[in-house]
Amino acid sequence: MGRYTGPVCKLCRREGQKLFLKGPKCYTEKCPVDRRTYPPGQHGPAQARRRKQSEYAGQLREKQKLKRVYGLQEKQFRNLFELAVKQPGVTGENLLVNLETRLDNLIFRLGLASSRSQARQVVRHRHVEVNGRVVDIPSYHVRVGDEVAVRAQDLDLFPIQEALAARTRAKVPEWLAFDEKNRVGRVIRTPERQDIPLTVQEQLIVELYSK
Ligand SMILES: [Zn+2]
Repeated sequence: MGRYTGPVCKLCRREGQKLFLKGPKCYTEKCPVDRRTYPPGQHGPAQARRRKQSEYAGQLREKQKLKRVYGLQEKQFRNLFELAVKQPGVTGENLLVNLETRLDNLIFRLGLASSRSQARQVVRHRHVEVNGRVVDIPSYHVRVGDEVAVRAQDLDLFPIQEALAARTRAKVPEWLAFDEKNRVGRVIRTPERQDIPLTVQEQLIVELYSK
């Protein structure tokens, strides 16, 4: 299956909550999930009326939600899960950390792009440097100590300018630092569960994939 290119707020309705896939617009514009509280499609209203979700359905929804928030395809997502299983510690948390430390997510978290999909594009178009070298792979994993920046000659490009103008200083998460003057982000430490502001029950995803 390819990348989803349909109306993004249909995905909000599917998950029953705003997923903020459009970036800052999601904070200011109305999302159809507020108006129509049932899932999209012909059987949406009936699904909403059904009282109890099966255990599998609940697990599936959590997986789809997390996958969509980060804009990944099943295979990429599954690979990060397999990696999480092999890593020491709690698998669900490892999965979240693996998602969070992707270069495209980092660009988004630093406020250098206004959505993850825009961040992915900024990386693909070779505007991003890690430790002074261009990295154009959105799935690249940053490590503690890495310095991430938009190439100086690309700072005035429209999407980056727009994101920089909209970013607020307070928003950079605690595991990252952002040098406002030089526009350089730095990974201070590995993110922990509480650093990742997502309402997702990652344990359900572990159960789903462990069947
Ligand atoms: Zn929406």
